[in-house]
Amino acid sequence: MTVARLARCKILPSHLPRMHLPSAHRQMSIAAGLKNSSIFRSQGLIGGKWIGAHDGKTIQVNNPATGEIIADVPFMGRRETNDAISSAYNAFNSWSKQTAAERSKCLRKWYDLIMSHKEELGQLITLEQGKPLKEALGEVSYGASFIEFFAEEAKRVYGDIIPATLADRRLFVLKQPVGVVGAITPWNFPLAMITRKVGPALACGCTVVVKPSELTPLTALAAAELALQAGIPPGVLNVVMGNAPDIGDALLASPQVRKITFTGSTAVGKKLMAGAAGTVKRISLELGGNAPCIVFDDADLDVAVKGALAAKFRNSGQTCVCANRIIVQEGIYEKFAEAFSKAVQNLQVGDGFSEGVVQGPLINEAAVQKVESYIQDAISKGAKVLLGGKRHSLGMTFYEPTVVTDVKSEMLLAREEVFGPVAPLLQFKTEEEAIRIANDTNSGLAAYIFTNNVQRTWRVLEALEYGLVGVNEGIISTEVAPFGGVKQSGLGREGSKYGIDEYLELKYVCLGDMNRK
Ligand code: ADP
Repeated sequence: MTVARLARCKILPSHLPRMHLPSAHRQMSIAAGLKNSSIFRSQGLIGGKWIGAHDGKTIQVNNPATGEIIADVPFMGRRETNDAISSAYNAFNSWSKQTAAERSKCLRKWYDLIMSHKEELGQLITLEQGKPLKEALGEVSYGASFIEFFAEEAKRVYGDIIPATLADRRLFVLKQPVGVVGAITPWNFPLAMITRKVGPALACGCTVVVKPSELTPLTALAAAELALQAGIPPGVLNVVMGNAPDIGDALLASPQVRKITFTGSTAVGKKLMAGAAGTVKRISLELGGNAPCIVFDDADLDVAVKGALAAKFRNSGQTCVCANRIIVQEGIYEKFAEAFSKAVQNLQVGDGFSEGVVQGPLINEAAVQKVESYIQDAISKGAKVLLGGKRHSLGMTFYEPTVVTDVKSEMLLAREEVFGPVAPLLQFKTEEEAIRIANDTNSGLAAYIFTNNVQRTWRVLEALEYGLVGVNEGIISTEVAPFGGVKQSGLGREGSKYGIDEYLELKYVCLGDMNRK
C-alpha cells in the first residue's frame, strides 16, 4: 500500500500514538524526595560558597511536564559573575600548579560520586528537562564518562621536543592551561553539556565559571555539589545563573577570562564570538545543526528505520545532532515512509517518569509554537502530514510524534532546525542530488547515511560537509570521539584526546647558548 493510500485510508490516524497521563502526585513526591537529598542545591556556587543574588532576586524552575514550580534559583547578573571570575582567577594559581595525578584523582572521585548518585541525578534531569527517565539515566552515564575520560587524559598532556636548527640551541613546546574559562550551556543535556566542558578544563589545570541554562540549573548545581564533595577546591568550579546576556557580557568583558566555551543556538554563538573579540579570547562553539539522514535504495530497511528513528526522536527531537531532514531515494521512499511511520506511531508519549514512555514534553511553550509554525509553513507549501502534526491531547507542551512527507528544500522544516518530534521526508533520485541537498545549508554538525554499498559509503562520507557522520547508525556520540561541527555549526571539538587541546596553550621555548662554558 502506498504512503498516500495509507494516509487516505486513515490507517495512520494522528491520534494513534499511545499516551501516558502525567501523574502530578507521583511527580510531586519525587520532587519532594529530591529536595531532601544531599545533592539538591538551589543557590549559585562562588568560591566554594552557596549564595543567592546580591539583591535577593530569584527565578522559578518549572517541570515542563506539569508546569509545577520545582525550585527558585538566584537571578544573578554582572556583579555575581565578576565575583565568580575573581574566585576562579584566584583558584587558578594553585589548581594549575597541582600535579596532573592530583587533579586526576579529584576528577575520578567526582566521576565515582556522579555514578553513585545516578538515580537522583537522572530524576532531577527528568524533573526539570522532561526527558524520559531511562534517557535521563543514560545522560548521567554519558555525562559522567567525560569526567572519567578526562581524569585519565589529565596525565597525558605531553609537550614536544623539536630537533634544533642550530647546534647550540634546544627547542621545545610546553602545553599549559589557558586560564579561567567561561562555560555557557543549554537545557537539552543539563549534565552532559557541562561535564564535556568542565572535564577537560579541570583536567589540564583551568578553572571555570559555568552558566547553565536558567531552564535547567538544578542538575548543574547538583553536579557542582558533588564536585565539592570530591575535593575539587573552592573556586575551581563556580556556577552562576540568571540574566543570561548580563552574565555573558561580564564573562566577555573580563580580561581574566581567557576562554569562552558555548553550546547553544547559532544566534547566541555569533554574539559571543563577536563579543570575545574585545579581549581576544579563545572560543569554542557548538551550535545548531540541520542534520541530513540519507537513506539509499540499497540500505537495509530495518536498519535505516531503526537508525533514523533514534537519530530523530531522541530527547523528543531536541538535540543538535537530531536528524532534521530524512532524505530518501525514490526506489525505497514509499516502503521507508510506511515502515518509519509505523515505528513512529508506536512511540509512547507522556511524562518522563511513566514506565514505557519514550517521548516527553517539549521544553516550553515557545518550542511548541516554533514546531507549529514550521508545520504550517510546510503545509502551506504543499507538504502532507502523514502522522501527528498537532499538539498532543495530554496538553502542556506535549506534541504528537509527527511524520511529514513531500517536504521540499525551500520549506522551513528543511532549512532550519525544528528541535521537536517532527520527521520531514524529502525524496531524491541520484547520489549527486542527495549530496547536494545534504550540503545545501549553513550548518555542518551531524549527518547520517544508510547504505550497504562500501564504495558509496566512502564517496558520500567524504563529500558531506559535516563534522560527524554516522553510517548505518543513528546514535554516534561518545566521550572517546571528537564532537563538533563545520561551517556555522561551530568551532572546536569536545570529547576525545582532541577535546583537551581546546583548553591548552602551546608555549614554544628556545633554549640558547648551550655551548657556553
Ligand atoms: P536555546 O535556544 O537552545 O535555549 P540559547 O542559545 O538561547 O539556546 O541558550 C543557550 C545558553 O546560552 C543558555 O544558557 C542561555 O541562557 C545562554 N544565553 C542566551 N542568551 C545569551 C547571551 N546574550 N549571552 C550569553 N549567554 C546567553
